[in-house]
Amino acid sequence: MSDKKLELYLHIPFCVKKCAYCDFLSAPAEESIKSRYVEALLKEIKIKSASCKEYSVPSVFFGGGTPSVLSGEAVGRLMEALRAAFSIEWDAEISIECNPGTLNPKKAAHYRRAGINRASLGLQSARQEELALLGRIHTYEQFLESFDFLRKAGFDNINVDVMSGLPGQSLGDWQYTLKKVVSLHPEHISAYSLIIEEGTPFYQRFSQDEKRREAGEEPRLLPTEETERAMYRWTEEYLKDHGYLHYEISNYARPGRECRHNVGYWRRENYLGLGLGSASLVENERFSNTSVLEDYLNGNYEKQEAVRLGRGEQMEEFLFLGLRLREGISRKDFYDCFGVELEGVYGDRAAVLCRQGLLAQEAGRVFLTEEGISVSNYVMAQFLL
Ligand code: SF4
Repeated sequence: MSDKKLELYLHIPFCVKKCAYCDFLSAPAEESIKSRYVEALLKEIKIKSASCKEYSVPSVFFGGGTPSVLSGEAVGRLMEALRAAFSIEWDAEISIECNPGTLNPKKAAHYRRAGINRASLGLQSARQEELALLGRIHTYEQFLESFDFLRKAGFDNINVDVMSGLPGQSLGDWQYTLKKVVSLHPEHISAYSLIIEEGTPFYQRFSQDEKRREAGEEPRLLPTEETERAMYRWTEEYLKDHGYLHYEISNYARPGRECRHNVGYWRRENYLGLGLGSASLVENERFSNTSVLEDYLNGNYEKQEAVRLGRGEQMEEFLFLGLRLREGISRKDFYDCFGVELEGVYGDRAAVLCRQGLLAQEAGRVFLTEEGISVSNYVMAQFLL
């Protein structure tokens, strides 16, 4: 296997129905479009792999959208094509995002047979009124069913996505959801707080309220900042007590079950995005695919918005992606990468943030403190050059 690594991301831009808060590149589509899309993706795999022969692949991630709208056969064909075209490592982590309501036992078994060894289930909430508010297509019972299909198919590495900070959500509501999830013993939990994204139905409904909250006023529908912080702190403690490591701002895992694909992203490993609108970072060049479905279906695989990152931009990314990890960044890695000490570039910025209690240093690493996490955007901004 080569020393040079390349993670693969495959974007599946289809969903049964658009959720009210979502601004991802995804939409409902007819079966004929999905079939054409799989064919286009197969072609892209063949074409793009030709220039990637010197890399070995430690992880593959089927993301979306909802990749589990694809049949077991379609995912099997994509996996076969990937194995034929790339040097996928024998113990590679191969993940697929699934939505409750789109899985069945046969499909789950087919995915597993195709070599997929990690599944990520989007639950968001265990409370029906919150699921309805979010515009999710499934009930909590359907989530339980899907979780069971995956376990019975042999998936021993499952993530569950949950979301805090929802309109009308109290600390008790959030605790209810998280306790339900933990009782199922998933290997990984992603706990993000809701972001009100422009262009979504949630933006129309809740952006004024968010502005009020940002201005330090009492929000009417969204939880207060204080409640959000209480949710975050409680999540950390509760998951720690139940054997989960808090390894990234919003991600928790049983020891050894951290998502390798995402850790690679935060460490700025090479990754190649395949499929509509997917982003790539290869040897410090960032680029993406077309976001126009018809173009992609017609075989446009040209690089869009290609930017070769300068040294300063690489340093900034090193800091603000690396600091998302609880282990933070290694001073030695920074030196090995850029041939200069952190202070040689940033002066006393890290020391000042340490004195403010937002960063800490230990054993050659620099990382966010609990307080630093709650103002992480401010901390990261200090490392812009
Ligand atoms: S299922 Fe996921 S990708 Fe699809 S609309 Fe909902 S949040 Fe967006």
